[in-house]
Amino acid sequence: MSESKDFLRTKVEEDLKSGKYQTIMTRFPPEPNGFPHIGHAKSICINFGIARDYAGQCNLRMDDTNPTTEDMRYVEALKDAVNWLGFTWADKVYFASDYFPKIYDYAVQLVNMGKAYVDSLNEEEIREYRGTVKEAGRRSIFAQRSIEENLDLLERMKNGEFKDGEHVLRAKIDMSAANMKMRDPLLYRIRHAHHFRTNDTWCIYPMYDFAHCLSDYIEGITHSICTLEFENNRDIYDWVLDALELTPPRPYQHEFARLGINYTVMSKRKLLELVNGGYVHGWDDPRLPTIAGYKRRGYTPESILNFCDQIGIAKANSMVDVAQLEFCIRDDLNQKVPRVMCVLDPLKVVIENYEGEEEIDASYYPYDVPKEGSRKLPFAKEIYIERDDFMENPPEGYYRLTPTQPVRLKHAYILTCKEVVKDANGNIIEIKALYHPDSKSGADTSGIKTKSAIHWVSAKHAKKIEVRLYERLYKVDAPEGLEDLNPDSLHVIPNAFVEPAVISEKPDVRFQFERQGYFYADPVDYTDAKPVFNKIVGLKDSWAKKAETLPQAPKTEAKKAHVEGDVIPMNKAELARFETYTTSGLNAEIANTLSRDEQLSDFYEATLLHVKSPISIANIVANDVARELKHEASLKFGAKEVAQLIGMMDEGVISSKIAKQVFETMAQTGENPLYIVESQGLKQISDPEILKPLIDEVIAKNPDNVAKYKAGNTNLFGFFVGQVLKNSGGKANPSVVNELVTQKLIQR
Ligand code: ATP
Ligand code: MG
Repeated sequence: MSESKDFLRTKVEEDLKSGKYQTIMTRFPPEPNGFPHIGHAKSICINFGIARDYAGQCNLRMDDTNPTTEDMRYVEALKDAVNWLGFTWADKVYFASDYFPKIYDYAVQLVNMGKAYVDSLNEEEIREYRGTVKEAGRRSIFAQRSIEENLDLLERMKNGEFKDGEHVLRAKIDMSAANMKMRDPLLYRIRHAHHFRTNDTWCIYPMYDFAHCLSDYIEGITHSICTLEFENNRDIYDWVLDALELTPPRPYQHEFARLGINYTVMSKRKLLELVNGGYVHGWDDPRLPTIAGYKRRGYTPESILNFCDQIGIAKANSMVDVAQLEFCIRDDLNQKVPRVMCVLDPLKVVIENYEGEEEIDASYYPYDVPKEGSRKLPFAKEIYIERDDFMENPPEGYYRLTPTQPVRLKHAYILTCKEVVKDANGNIIEIKALYHPDSKSGADTSGIKTKSAIHWVSAKHAKKIEVRLYERLYKVDAPEGLEDLNPDSLHVIPNAFVEPAVISEKPDVRFQFERQGYFYADPVDYTDAKPVFNKIVGLKDSWAKKAETLPQAPKTEAKKAHVEGDVIPMNKAELARFETYTTSGLNAEIANTLSRDEQLSDFYEATLLHVKSPISIANIVANDVARELKHEASLKFGAKEVAQLIGMMDEGVISSKIAKQVFETMAQTGENPLYIVESQGLKQISDPEILKPLIDEVIAKNPDNVAKYKAGNTNLFGFFVGQVLKNSGGKANPSVVNELVTQKLIQR
């Protein structure tokens, strides 16, 4: 649990303290009509998490009241997802369909109380009679039926005497209620359909609004937690439970914001379309945001749990950047998994002066990862390197192998190019090279300087594997339909070469393929004859980027130390700083950048004396200040000014986006950040009265998108927020805008 309590936990604690409930009971109530996605993971974390945190119970309940779309296969997928995330449900899996007899009895009770009636208007008439937001509705003439007549009709509906749509059971509430949902909502409809559990026992099925609150009540649920789109249904929820005058305690509904992620879709209906249409290879396709997809791709449950924890629980819908999820899996695997070598696009190198073969004892983990383990890495005369790790006519700044520039083979020797072999078309097909016997990693006395280390495999010992690389499923951040699919979301590399250690490990193991990313043996298609690996996620910074930001690092006594790309051992002082930084909450990557550079770490520490925001400071220092130091002879600002800038960000005076802009000005002109913000009028706008007109304008200008949003494309939420932020020149407070846009779009 994160330290600050969310509003749901606050409510739960209140209710325990006041004695409203003795034990907390929650439930996760999916409809088994598709595989669960990461939005469900959020709901699972909330419901099971709250039960765990307050020693209560969380039921896994199938909301199986719609016979035509449901299937046992989806029940299994839901159970699997909950288990995989590490949660366990109480005694058994619950099914709303088990309550059909009870729910029916409650319906009879409502009729007997004169609070429900059988209506015989058709669907269209019902809609028409309901009225509009501006106009009150009219009550159906059938609402005047006597209790006896209603009881008789309801019984005959149940007995199958009528066709679908001939009658419905409705609650008698208020046809002019401001909340349209309260205008005599439907409780039961006739559906002559086979149900996957109750078979043909029933031909009437309770509506969500009737079945859900009663299922909660029957199970003794205390907190019925659902997503914001059910906010207006809360009145019915309360009405049904109150109208029946049930013995207390009864449950109450609480809503939280649905999770949306960019570049994907998050609705079972849309996912079903992708699966059934063959746009992806099944529900567990690693490109899908389904739990089964993430699991197969190689995500860990921990990474998903961390993600759900990080995004928090809010009352306003918002779009989460998929990069945040990718960060979570990378962050989890970074310290955990062994690093090995795999060549995806092989170029053969023949080392002319090397004879025989040897096995190198190579560590699985870099110096700064507190794990141990190594493997035997075979080295021989013929190796494969990555095709783009050699360039005949390199641009400036290319650090890898060229006809004149040697390179280090990771864990092994330094290599010099001797000859480039080409085919008749001029394509490079082989490199003839020489190795330097005295340059072995860890015992390098050659004195030869290299600018980077590349990965390689011994041609004779390498194993052939298939590698599947995944790109985003959609090419736009708020996809609307199939036309937005990314046609290149899957790349299959049939012949990649991996070092033998990878194959001898158990299949259910994740690896970092050095410089490529994190990979997982595909749990479905992997066989000994044809091993298949999925790319889970790439490394944060490409190799090229790392080489750019860290070139000054080996300025210490690293001369005699072996230079291996980015993994130069830290000296004592650097290591001490690294420890301090990571324990104070900085992530390993940033801590690494700061600790290896004295100037940066001094700057970071000086700033920390002024303002206690280690993470914000570290980010600015490791990125922005570092960039300035690289390009400018001297800085036009000091630690105090950076601290002032962060202070304004922390207090919400400026947005983080504006902070970037202020930093640029500071760096160029040397002006004080407080002065820049004041004189340029950059203060963040949080006043709803100023923001509302901006929102109205965006809504008025985009009627098409409003319609699409209302028709269910909730991905467009981010679009509206983005436009408002843009129109405010980046000054609007994003969380206030989020809230206001939600009010505009959802509540009315
Ligand atoms: P979908 O629209 O994807 O079909 P749903 O809401 O119809 O989703 P259910 O199976 O009814 O799916 O949902 C089970 C639970 O999961 C509900 O309580 C629902 O509120 C929650 N849930 C579904 N999608 C999300 C999401 N994107 N973020 C958070 N919770 C979600
Ligand atoms: Mg649904």
